[in-house]
Amino acid sequence: MKNRVKRKNGVFEALRMAAAAHRLLTAGTILCVAASVLASLVPPLLLAGIIDRLTAGIPLTFLAALLYFGSLALEGALSSAQESLLVLFGQKMTHALRSEMSQKLTLLPASTLVDQNPGEVAARFSGDVDTVEALFTSGIISMAADACRIVSILVVIAVKNTGLALILLLVLPLFAVFTRVVQKRMLAAQLDNRRAVAAVSGQVPETLHNIRTIRALGLESYMERRYDHCIGDSYAAMERTNFYDAIYSPVVLVLNAAVVGIMMLLSASGNATVLTFFGMSVGTSVAVINYISRIFAPIESLGMEIQTIQSAMAGVKRIDAFLSQPERAIPPERKDAARGDVELCHVTFGYGEKHVLNDFSMTVKQGEQVTLVGRTGAGKSTVFKLLLGLYRPEAGRVTIGGVDVANITDRERRTCIGCVEQHFSRVPGTVLEQITLNDPAITREMAREAAKLAGIDAAIQTLPEGYDTVCTDGMFSQGEWQLLSIARAAAADPAVLLLDEITANLDAETEARVLEALRRASAGRTVLSVSHRIYENLGGRTVEIKTQVQ
Ligand code: ATP
Ligand code: MG
Repeated sequence: MKNRVKRKNGVFEALRMAAAAHRLLTAGTILCVAASVLASLVPPLLLAGIIDRLTAGIPLTFLAALLYFGSLALEGALSSAQESLLVLFGQKMTHALRSEMSQKLTLLPASTLVDQNPGEVAARFSGDVDTVEALFTSGIISMAADACRIVSILVVIAVKNTGLALILLLVLPLFAVFTRVVQKRMLAAQLDNRRAVAAVSGQVPETLHNIRTIRALGLESYMERRYDHCIGDSYAAMERTNFYDAIYSPVVLVLNAAVVGIMMLLSASGNATVLTFFGMSVGTSVAVINYISRIFAPIESLGMEIQTIQSAMAGVKRIDAFLSQPERAIPPERKDAARGDVELCHVTFGYGEKHVLNDFSMTVKQGEQVTLVGRTGAGKSTVFKLLLGLYRPEAGRVTIGGVDVANITDRERRTCIGCVEQHFSRVPGTVLEQITLNDPAITREMAREAAKLAGIDAAIQTLPEGYDTVCTDGMFSQGEWQLLSIARAAAADPAVLLLDEITANLDAETEARVLEALRRASAGRTVLSVSHRIYENLGGRTVEIKTQVQ
């Protein structure tokens, strides 16, 4: 019986759960955004009141001035609180998303993982998640806030000066289209520039790398021309960006001035019908001018926010594709660890189209030591991968002590089967952690016993902090890393030991040390190995794996 972990995949589901987990922060962020929108409406209204009173000859009171400056301060404070809360909220969301993705990574079958390009998977975790974070910091919420800001300013203007609201309703869509066009062109120019800069950066190392060939063939001026061409592209793209940047602000200023000018002219006209739409007090006109300049900024931001949302949606799509990949089956926990004979029974297996094993059977009795032989590419390492449960056979059964290896839980696997390979896979951390792999079931004493068995304890003791020394590349020789690998496998006291070409690339003296360690570690265990030298050292029988003719 397979027990698939029931999890809801998908970016939005993960985000919904994260928002629910941080209910206070979510509610606080929304409230703060709403308060910030409302607070931005207040100062011009207060200013209008003050000016109207002054023009009517009523002196300015301290309270009115305090209120006006207080409203400005509140607007600033709320706007910076909004920024901070949005950043915090975005961080919580991306944290949740990355956790979901890293959990997913551990649940993907080995067959899926080997097919993936590590760079692409890493890009899902970094670039794509960053675009989703931007969705919160400068995307959806900011867009909603800007839309509210535009609508509420328009409503206030409509109340104060209906005619101006009508003019703005005509002008603003045109301005929005203009903004979008400029932004799109700027973005295209920026992308061109980024491509050109990447090409420029590639040129220098390429030239240095091939400097001898360049000099030998007298290609200096050719390389220089190529370089000039690349920087020329970059400059051209930058010039286009600068051009759009340079025209945008003056257009906003001119438009602002034109709207104010038209409004002033119309409100000063003597026509009674025009005045029903445009007539207003001095104070109101100041407030309205203030509002006009405030309405252009959110429209400009909206264009960028649409951009952010578009790229975030592309990121969401890619992350969703990653999260929706089928997960491996998680077997239920069992009472006793699987121990006993190792058996491959009529196993057929291949990687995609490539056939490796065809109706292959073999039995290794408990405590027996067997060496797999066969031509390179015959499938020796593949048998080990099947035994470790990394792949499922297309037909037949792979069992240890009668238990299908697919039913061995991750927790149980280490005590059931240990594997030593040609290369040591170092985990970040100390020497002790290399042996225990942070498994709480393996104590410091057990790790030390395993290291003694592997003959690496003395070398570890000479390190500055012994077992607590943080591992670095050059810390051990290749043979010593192999001894550490044996210690790691032996620490969990597995019933079955798999040894795959572990003495390849070692000199005779080191090899003798490793083989000696192996002999000690293999005592009383079922051992399957790939290597003639181990066979000679450990004895036992051989099983041949025949190359499949494709
Ligand atoms: P060697 O003695 O060279 O280590 P081997 O007997 O261990 O060889 P395997 O590593 O089991 O051979 O590989 C068996 C065949 O399967 C080879 O032809 C190999 O190219 C192919 N193979 C191994 N791993 C994969 C994989 N992840 N995807 C596709 N093909 C694979
Ligand atoms: Mg191999």
